[in-house]
Amino acid sequence: MDIARIAVHESVAKACPLEAMVAALQGSAIPVEIVGDDASFDASDCVVTFSPRDAFLDAAWVHGIRAGYDEFDVTAYEAAGTALMNSTGIHGDTVPETVVGYMTAFARRLHVYRDHQSDSDWMQEPYDAPFTLTGEQVCVVGLGTIGQGVADRANALGMEVVGVRRSGDPVENVERVYTPDELDTAVADARFVVLCCPLTEETEGMVGAARLVQMRTDSYLVNVARGPVVVEDALLNALDDGTIAGAALDAHWEEPLPEEHPLWDHESAIVTPHVAASTSQYHEDIAALVQENVERIARGESLRNRVA
Ligand code: NAD
Repeated sequence: MDIARIAVHESVAKACPLEAMVAALQGSAIPVEIVGDDASFDASDCVVTFSPRDAFLDAAWVHGIRAGYDEFDVTAYEAAGTALMNSTGIHGDTVPETVVGYMTAFARRLHVYRDHQSDSDWMQEPYDAPFTLTGEQVCVVGLGTIGQGVADRANALGMEVVGVRRSGDPVENVERVYTPDELDTAVADARFVVLCCPLTEETEGMVGAARLVQMRTDSYLVNVARGPVVVEDALLNALDDGTIAGAALDAHWEEPLPEEHPLWDHESAIVTPHVAASTSQYHEDIAALVQENVERIARGESLRNRVA
């Protein structure tokens, strides 16, 4: 593979400034340019992109700047012989810190007080509403980069950590690891269920009405994975009828979440606009992944984060 150009697709602007990404990629000594949807590609191109486009199949390799690659047609990449890379491995601090933020807000009721602040309202929650994270159980579903980061932080906060992993093999800072077919048991005692798995055929709709009923009525669902891992109507009903106590959602079924969506002003929900991974260093983290693969190509080694 002989790379003569790194093409930064304009969709990258959804995650970070294009100019910052271009500057960060300059270190590879390969010419870098910003391209739009009218660009064409050939076997000497590396494309760095947020979103997929059919034309990218003509490039040598495509680097998706997100961990999830569910929007990319992996079969088409394999058929075209175009390498596809994702960005797993760089979200081990950002997303877990956001998850700690959601859990802390729910436990210490910070989201409620922030809601009342604009009314200068000295409202205090009922005596039995606040609790501490210490001693509470969290179930982390998906123990990859993000899940491990959540488990490490939850363990450091004195929480009891259980998790779900396809292999069921032990993981550091997780007291009990369940397999996906044991999910009902895994969530049953948890105060927080945190979804950190990819969106796949297996995980789509994984949290529906029957599963939500298995959760404690005082529990909270946190979705930093992808919207369709949760069944939308089932979650809305569960929040309305008190099947669970609340939910924090960074990933949604439709993005942006429509203006009229009931979650926006649901008092039991924290809604963030798919920003759990945001950081002012994102361009640097992506450039380091791309740079590493440029060096691997030069050495004739296999590519990191290759998913097709
Ligand atoms: P990762 O590949 O490091 O980890 C994902 C883990 O989930 C893997 O260990 C995998 O084996 C496991 N898994 C797959 N199917 C499973 C199942 N049915 N049950 C339990 N575990 C299962 O990826 P990551 O960087 O930790 O990211 C995980 C996902 O989070 C991504 O695929 C993406 O959809 C989402 N994500 C969201 C944001 C955000 O901004 N909200 C940012 C990054 C990633």
